[in-house]
This record gives sequence, structure tokens and C-alpha cells, in this order.
Amino acid sequence: MIEMSEVYKTYPNGVLAINGIDIVIHPGEFVYVVGPSGAGKSTFIKMMYREEKPSSGKIVINGIDLSTLKESKVPMLRRSIGVVFQDFKLLPKLTVFENVAFALEVIGESPRNIRKRVLDVLDLVQLKHKARFFPDELSGGEQQRVSIARSIVNNPAVMIADEPTGNLDPDTSWEIMHLFEEINNRGTTVVMATHNKEIVNTLKKRVIAVEDGKIVRDEARGEYGLYD
Ligand code: ADP
Ligand code: ADP
Repeated sequence: MIEMSEVYKTYPNGVLAINGIDIVIHPGEFVYVVGPSGAGKSTFIKMMYREEKPSSGKIVINGIDLSTLKESKVPMLRRSIGVVFQDFKLLPKLTVFENVAFALEVIGESPRNIRKRVLDVLDLVQLKHKARFFPDELSGGEQQRVSIARSIVNNPAVMIADEPTGNLDPDTSWEIMHLFEEINNRGTTVVMATHNKEIVNTLKKRVIAVEDGKIVRDEARGEYGLYD
């Protein structure tokens, strides 16, 4: 579960990015976060995995109260949340296998368990046959599938994605969306900031619209709205 109460965020330069947000997202939900550029969508989701801290208010993720979370416990929080970015953020000098294995190595899993788990998630994203490839040998869609595999390898309860289809062509974007749907169908909560109007209006989910740092709309099977 994701819960925010009276959350505000002012950046050090004085920009008020989040201006009072209250929200509850239940386990297993699939939520789109929409709104114009600069509305605060990225800031909203970055606060969920502690990439940014709120200036005030309360955030609870998977039962962890972020306001009292010690820095030393942030890695533990991050392991319960998978994050996917627009620009993939794969490590260029590591193979596909190693990029996905990395998160398991840092928690000291045995090589045997790592191998099994990594090949399982690569199979899910249909890239097992490219396990030995490097990121620059893959198409954009394939790189995003690797980053999705990496984000779910720890079995996170929550998956957060910031414009995951922003760099992909329409067909590839749909493939990636079907993967997110499949992961969501297996019980993982998905929160996705997106500008993809066609996807939001076709693959209907809960829509949270953010404008000027506030939630201006929250609908169960919502529409994208009038944003570019
Ligand atoms: P969106 O994702 O909807 O485009 P953001 O959350 O990125 O919106 O930005 C919200 C506001 O906060 C914008 O005015 C943006 O310029 C500002 N902002 C975002 N990140 C920072 C930062 N690190 N420092 C200062 N201002 C920022
Ligand atoms: P797309 O049409 O999806 O953008 P590409 O044309 O980039 O895909 O690549 C087609 C196939 O060739 C993909 O499976 C990709 O992994 C593979 N490929 C692309 N570039 C390289 C490369 N430099 N080395 C090895 N395989 C590559």
C-alpha cells in the first residue's frame, strides 16, 4: 500500500513542486499519473522510493513510514520497489544477465539462486536468448524489457515507472505495456507516470491527474485528458 497525507515538497531553489497531496493506492492497483510537463508527476513518484524527500507530510510505503526511515534502511525500502525509467539506466559494461543479477548479488543471494531467478525473469520478458548481450547491442524495446526484468527480480510489491514508453515507438510501447499488465496481473502494484494518451485511453486504469503540484482528478477508469 502507498499512502500520502498532506505532502508538500519545495525544492531548495524555492520551487513548490508538490502542493498538498493526499492519496491511497491499494495493493494490486494499476495507476497512471498524468498531467502537463512540470506538474509534479516525477516528484510525486520519486518521493515513493525516497529519491526525493517531502518538505512536510507523511508517506507510508508497504508499511514503511518514510518520514522516520533511517538512511541506513533506504536500501531495504528500494528492494521492495522496482523502478523503471524512460532512459532504461542499464549499466553499459555489464551484460543483460549481469544487469539483472546485480540487485541479487548485493543482497548476497547464492550464485545458484541468482542464476535461476535471473533466467526466470529474462524468460518472462522474452530475452533469455540475449542474456550474454550488452545493452548497446539491443533495441530500445529490448533494453526496456531488461530494465523491467531488473526491476522485478527481487519480487517487489510495488513497481514505479516514469515515462517507460517515452523513448519507444508505438508498437514497442504496446509490448512494454502488455508486460506491465502481466506483472500487475501477478499482483504487483504499478504506478506509472505517462504522456502516452493512446495507451491511457485504451488500456483503462485508475488515472490520477496532477496539475501545479495537486491532484486535480482521480478516476477509477479514467481518461488521459487534454494534456499534450
Ligand atoms: P513533471 O514530472 O510533471 O514534469 P516534475 O516533478 O519534474 O514535474 O517538476 C515539478 C516542478 O519542480 C517543476 O517546476 C520543475 O521545474 C521543478 N523541479 C523538478 N526537479 C527539481 C529539482 N531537482 N530542483 C528544483 N526544481 C525541480
Ligand atoms: P528494433 O527494430 O526493435 O529497433 P533493431 O533493428 O535495433 O531493433 O535490432 C534488431 C535486432 O538485432 C534486435 O534483436 C537486436 O537485439 C539485434 N541487434 C541490434 N543491434 C545489434 C548489435 N550491435 N549487436 C548485436 N545485435 C544487435
